[in-house]
Amino acid sequence: MKQCIIIGASHAGAQLCVSLRQGGWEGSITLIGDEPDLPYHRPPLSKDFLSGDKAIDEILLRPASVYENANVQMKLGTRVGAIDRIAKTVLTDDGEALAYDKLVLATGARVRHLPVAGVDLDGVYYLRDTTDVRAIKAGVAKGKQAVIIGGGYIGLETAASLRKQGMEVTVLEAMPRILQRVTAPEISEFYKRIHSEEGVQILEGVMASEIKSSGDALSVHTACEQNFDADMVIIGIGVIPNIELAEMAGLDIGNGIEVNSFCQTSDTDIYAAGDVTWHYNPIYERHIRLESVPNATEQAKTVALHINGKPKPYSSLPWFWSDQFDLKLQIAGLSEGYDEIVIRGDIEGSRSFAAFYFKGDQILAVDAVNSPREFMFTKMALTKGQALDKTILADSNADLKSSVL
Ligand SMILES: Cc1cc2nc3c(=O)[nH]c(=O)nc-3n(C[C@H](O)[C@H](O)[C@H](O)COP(=O)(O)OP(=O)(O)OC[C@H]3O[C@@H](n4cnc5c(N)ncnc54)[C@H](O)[C@@H]3O)c2cc1C
Repeated sequence: MKQCIIIGASHAGAQLCVSLRQGGWEGSITLIGDEPDLPYHRPPLSKDFLSGDKAIDEILLRPASVYENANVQMKLGTRVGAIDRIAKTVLTDDGEALAYDKLVLATGARVRHLPVAGVDLDGVYYLRDTTDVRAIKAGVAKGKQAVIIGGGYIGLETAASLRKQGMEVTVLEAMPRILQRVTAPEISEFYKRIHSEEGVQILEGVMASEIKSSGDALSVHTACEQNFDADMVIIGIGVIPNIELAEMAGLDIGNGIEVNSFCQTSDTDIYAAGDVTWHYNPIYERHIRLESVPNATEQAKTVALHINGKPKPYSSLPWFWSDQFDLKLQIAGLSEGYDEIVIRGDIEGSRSFAAFYFKGDQILAVDAVNSPREFMFTKMALTKGQALDKTILADSNADLKSSVL
């Protein structure tokens, strides 16, 4: 019997188990993950799971019975330390050597560490998994102070979740504006306004340089000699892909594990899927690494099709979402390289609008806040390669469909 081993039990790994079986794989499937929980939805960690609105059972990707019915052997709480490509085995940290015919690396990403003194103190957290969030939740209490280092989506979502639970929240962003790496200045300004209306203090251009403790109290010091007292500090300054296994095994690496359009690595029996991949996107005609659930799911399906002998090249439009307070942001496409932004709706006074990113006359992406129609419409247009009329998009009374040129 053929054997497929999947390393990484999260969005990509869990999807792959199901898609492999549905696609007709008759061999064994072993899913190895170093976290203790069954695979769960990671996005709620900074949203409903942190705010206490959902328990672990409510964020599981699939119930245990799905893996049982698909005859998946689960090895949770187990870390893979090495791959032997000659023997075609993976070596687990508890000393087992497991043989594979097909191997899939769905090892995702881990948090980027903040290189300052004091990050190991009690009360200082990162936020990537359920263990992190359980520890954070134990310290959440109305009126306590949280300092969040990093004003990206995860930092801002965390700020919103803690604020909703009555904490006093300050966000320190080192760059001149929050969300600088991922969005336009207009959108950063919008989120700053909303957080301020909700009582979150956002400070930009402020670099944390040290965290100190005295008794139970923490204090974040900055490069410009400010001090921020805190009961807890949460660091959210991005992630790095878990490429080390692949690198040690001699696979090709770019800004992630390099894969072809079928998610195969430079070893044809080893695949990769999800946050860890460095892959070519045919829509944007360049290599990218994405940190998004839809990408992890789609790449897992691509791997399953290829392993099952029904190859279909990966070609998906990147999309993403972020929930903060009553705002549902949906993003379709990649805005990098835009030279013009077209706003539909009242970005300065309301809580719903859409921002369309253009390069010349070509639509690149949309950021749609509480505007699902604009999101769906643009996602479709980008997938079909349609051109859109900027003047019509900017007129919120005009029918969106009439913007198609
Ligand atoms: C707080 C938070 C909020 C997010 N919000 C959103 C959102 O709103 N929308 C969105 O689209 N995306 C969001 N994301 C990103 C999304 O969660 C990721 O894109 C997604 O989890 C990627 O799935 P993956 O399976 O590729 O990898 P991961 O989810 O990173 O899982 C990889 C797994 O592999 C394990 N692993 C790694 N190395 C080994 C090893 N050697 N042995 C065994 N196990 C190993 C890891 O511990 C992990 O469990 C969010 C992420 C976080 C942290």
